[in-house]
Amino acid sequence: MLRESVRALAEAKIVPFAAAVDEEGRFPQEALDALVANDLHAVHVPETYGGAGADALATVIVIEEVARACGSSSLIPAVNKLGSLPVILSGSEELKHRYLAPLARGEAMFSYALSEPDAGSDAAGMKTRAVRDGDFWVLNGVKRWITNAGVSEYYTVMAVTDPDKRSKGISAFVVEKSDEGVSFGAPEKKLGIKGSPTREVYLDNVRIPASRMIGAEGTGFATAMKTLDHTRITIAAQAIGIAQGALDYAKGYVKERKQFGKPIADFQGVQFMLADMAMKLEAARQLTYAAAAKSERVDSDLTFFGAAASASPPTSPWRSPPTPSSSSAATATPATTPSSA
Ligand SMILES: Cc1cc2nc3c(=O)[nH]c(=O)nc-3n(C[C@H](O)[C@H](O)[C@H](O)COP(=O)(O)OP(=O)(O)OC[C@H]3O[C@@H](n4cnc5c(N)ncnc54)[C@H](O)[C@@H]3O)c2cc1C
Repeated sequence: MLRESVRALAEAKIVPFAAAVDEEGRFPQEALDALVANDLHAVHVPETYGGAGADALATVIVIEEVARACGSSSLIPAVNKLGSLPVILSGSEELKHRYLAPLARGEAMFSYALSEPDAGSDAAGMKTRAVRDGDFWVLNGVKRWITNAGVSEYYTVMAVTDPDKRSKGISAFVVEKSDEGVSFGAPEKKLGIKGSPTREVYLDNVRIPASRMIGAEGTGFATAMKTLDHTRITIAAQAIGIAQGALDYAKGYVKERKQFGKPIADFQGVQFMLADMAMKLEAARQLTYAAAAKSERVDSDLTFFGAAASASPPTSPWRSPPTPSSSSAATATPATTPSSA
């Protein structure tokens, strides 16, 4: 039922704008409005804080169905989870009530600011600094590649509080867009998902109350990594949704396009390709759903499953290019009609 209702909403309210959003590289405001109106913009927020209380699998299904219509729009529910999960996992009750309730009501979006110009895979090499000043922390630094930056009101920012301790000297904070000293770079020009703004976030003497620290001092990196364990699955869901959208589109096209007097769907070579796409897509989906169940139970092998799920979809940016030997697997695929694909 959830899938059907999100699909119907996406077809009606997101599909009509998806191509323009991508071509114009503009934020999908229509999608945000439709998702908020139907309480689908941040379904993961627990009911205690006014949210829908969706579990990890339900959240994945929402993201998947939005991505099937528009990859950029799917980063609204996905990054709202990414940005706010540190607060859910490690924040005080005060922080949870203060920041999760506006998120659940659709009044504010949440971004996640870990990466920096010189700290990508090696996130612990970050340079953004937070220095204590009485009841305040003062933040200085640059975060890069921050999804929905400039649109989101709230940011989980990881910063170094003790430079001698490397990952154990990193703490997490909630920074607000309206805090003095916060500004944003120009949107990056990307190859895809062009409607989702990716910007730098500049922190110039941003002075925030000490109560905005998420969890204890020095636990920010652990919270950041735990957050990624749970949210790599949402990026897998995005890639699966995009792949499903492409497959559904292709299935329609091959029936419509005629060559040599018949629809190209009648050619077995085309059927092989569609069968292959459907097979790889379903394998990725099942791995992602298994990872979502593990996320919900916080199983000990979640880190492996989350990483594997995010690298498995055919459209995943984290997927390695196929080697010549792996592409020969296509010839071993049994003949399947496009409709059964
Ligand atoms: C569209 C987009 C949105 C993003 N959104 C966010 C966001 O919202 N918040 C945020 O904090 N970050 C975000 N990021 C940043 C993203 O998390 C980083 O791009 C990622 O961590 C990789 O860092 P990097 O791009 O600096 O690559 P690098 O770390 O420089 O890696 C370059 C290459 O080296 C390889 N490599 C690196 N280390 C190793 C190793 N130890 N072993 C083998 N190979 C290695 C990598 O696999 C890669 O192929 C976003 C990025 C993009 C492109």
